[in-house]
Parts: sequence; structure tokens; C-alpha cells
Amino acid sequence: MGQPFRMRSSKIRPASLPDRLGYFGAFGGRFVSETLMAALYELEQAFREAWKDPEFHREMKGVYRDFVGRPSPLYFAEALTRKIGGARIYLKREDMLHTGAHKINNTVGQALLALRMKKKRLIAETGAGQHGVATATVAARYGFDCDIYMGTEDVRRQSLNVFRMNLLGARVRPVEGGTKTLKDAISEALRDWSQSVLSTHYVLGTAFGPHPFPLIVRSFQSVIGREARKQILGKEGRLPDALVACVGGGSNSIGLFYPFLKDLGCVLYGVEAGGRSFRPGEHAARFKTGKVGVLQGSKTFVLQDPDGQIEGTHSVSAGLDYSAVGPELSYYRESGRISFTSVTDDEALNGFETLSRTEGIIPALESSHAIAWGVRLARELGPDRIVLINLSGRGDKDVMEVARIKGVSLT
Ligand SMILES: *Cc1c(COP(=O)(O)O)cnc(C)c1O
Repeated sequence: MGQPFRMRSSKIRPASLPDRLGYFGAFGGRFVSETLMAALYELEQAFREAWKDPEFHREMKGVYRDFVGRPSPLYFAEALTRKIGGARIYLKREDMLHTGAHKINNTVGQALLALRMKKKRLIAETGAGQHGVATATVAARYGFDCDIYMGTEDVRRQSLNVFRMNLLGARVRPVEGGTKTLKDAISEALRDWSQSVLSTHYVLGTAFGPHPFPLIVRSFQSVIGREARKQILGKEGRLPDALVACVGGGSNSIGLFYPFLKDLGCVLYGVEAGGRSFRPGEHAARFKTGKVGVLQGSKTFVLQDPDGQIEGTHSVSAGLDYSAVGPELSYYRESGRISFTSVTDDEALNGFETLSRTEGIIPALESSHAIAWGVRLARELGPDRIVLINLSGRGDKDVMEVARIKGVSLT
């Protein structure tokens, strides 16, 4: 199940990446049109200044505590541990946050940044609607005008989240182009931004896209790992043997892993969507069958055919269903620091059911991928070991989909 990492810790300097041009080794960068360059420079400078400013951190800490619900608990899953009979399993409870997942950590941070930049309007892309809801939420709270781009296929599949965004006062803008899904929504949001940058901040939803977005999103999400590290030291007096997180674009995984990168005793596992099979269009395991390419401003692992055409993806969980992955994860995969694996739709559904029944916690289908792998790992490692799994979100949003798969009619 992956090799313990053997590289010297002095060779890992997480804070030195990305470099000045936005590269994590060979990955990342800023592959955008000239009109967007100015916007990205302005954003990078504003972020670097804010991140150095104690006042910015003080304000963010207050909002995290009173609006978001941080720190999220680190929960010892005692019943699950007993049932599996292996390593002690801990869950980082991002599912307990406002709006039900880790995405709010990033949208709050970016909203405070947009306030500092005196922007009046937020735009965002969304696939399943989770990031759209998290952005609409902070737009409502801080009085931003808000437009959310969403493929028409996703608008149809996620009507409840569309209504939620409307309730929060945001406009949902359906995107007709391409496959009518997340990729096309990102393209449209970038197009809007290139014409509206004076008034508008683009809240990108994961640790992906052109520099400085991977840096910004990782910085806001690394609160997950900072808390988890302190909490496990408090409860166990030592660090975990393994950390496990699911990987869509990569924000909850890099957020958990980042503060542990130099702790070489912790093996880090990123879990991708194995879908139905590894045939093109039936999964989203970029590190399994993908190749290095450039997509939406960033050089990274991409699912593409031999001609470089982007391949379709499939996953039972909409949040993992994307053809590219964040560049920082590509870098740590190449250097061997993070191990990647995948679990199938069926295994994830098993994880979903197992956690619901043994712990009384219904996980998001995305997080269920991490649960499924974490349970296997705990069994294999055996007692006296510690496995810490990121529970990135709650499963309320997925209940209808699971009912449909099980053939249960709810109306
Ligand atoms: C969006 C989402 C993910 C995947 O996105 P990352 O950027 O890889 O974290 C995972 N879990 C939940 C609950 C999500 O909403």
C-alpha cells in the first residue's frame, strides 16, 4: 500500500513553493491571456500583503470561529476502529462546518481578500454547486454582487443547489458550451473576469488554475492540517502514521497534508475517483492514466487522449469529477512525498454506508472515497497505529443520489 517516504526531510521545503513564477518544480505556472495577467499580478500582490498582515489573520480567525465553526473537531472513530480491528481511526470533521464542507474555508478567505482589494462583485465556477453555495454565502454575508457560472447539464442535475444560491441572492449563469459541465464553467468565469477585473474578484474553488490560485487556496485550506496536527498531538501525544484525503482539484487534501509534509513518519495518501473502470470517460484518476499537459492556466496531470483532447470523466461523487488536478499535488507525486490511489464508485458507496451505520455520520460521497481507503489501510496497518482521515463534507447533499442508485423512490 505505498512505500514509506525515504527522501531526506531537508530536501522538502514546502514554504519555498510555488516559486516566483508560480511553479511547483515542473508544474503550475500561469498559462493565460495577456488580459488576465494584470489581474493575476494584482491578486498575487494583494494576497502576499494580506498574508503578512496580523490584522488580516486576526479578522479571519474571528470569522472562522463565529461564522464557519472552526476549529472543527478531531474525532476518534471508536466504533469504526473496533469494527475494523486495526489502526486507531480519527476523522477531521470538516463536515461540521457552515454549508457542510471545507469549501467555506477558502471562500471566506477570498472574500476578505476581495474586501481589501475594494472589489464589489464576486464570480465563481461550480460543478455540483457546493463551491457556488459557499461563494454565494460569503457574498451575502459581505454584501458582494455575485454571479455563479455553472454548466447547463449541472444546472439540471443540481437544481436544489441552484435554488439555494438564488435564496442567498446570487445569480446562476448557465453555460451552454462544451460538455456543459465544470470545465466549461471555469472557462466562462475566466472570460468574465478578463472583462470585469476592476470591479470583480474571481473566487476559484480549488487548489488549481493559474498562479496565484493554487497558492491562495492551499494557504486558506491549510488551517485543516494545522488544527489536525495540534489536535492529534493533544489526544495521542504523537503524529499519525498515515493521513488520507480524497482528491478532486486537491484543496482538502493539500490543506490537510501541507503542515505534515516535513513529518516523514506520516505517509500521505490522496484518493482519486476510480469510477466504474479505468477506461476513458469512466473515472477521474488523473494520476492513474493521465499525462502532463496544460489545462485552464496550469501545467499538471490531465486526462487526455493521444491527440491532447481532454477526456470526459465519471464519478459517483460530482466533486471528484474533473479531468485535471492541482499542480502542487503533481509535484509531490513526482517527488514521491504523496502517494496516490483510487477507489471505485462501489467501494465509495460501501464507505458511505459503513460510516453512516457504525458512527452515525453520513459522509459526502467525495469523503466516502477517503473513508473506503482509510478503512482498508487501518485494517492492513493493524493496532497501535493511527490513521487520520479528512472528512471533507457531510452527505446530506448526496442522499437523493444514493436513493436513486439503490432504486429507492422518495416522492
Ligand atoms: C468539492 C469537494 C471535494 C473535492 O474538492 P477538493 O478541492 O479536491 O477538496 C471533496 N469533498 C467535498 C465534500 C467537496 O465538496
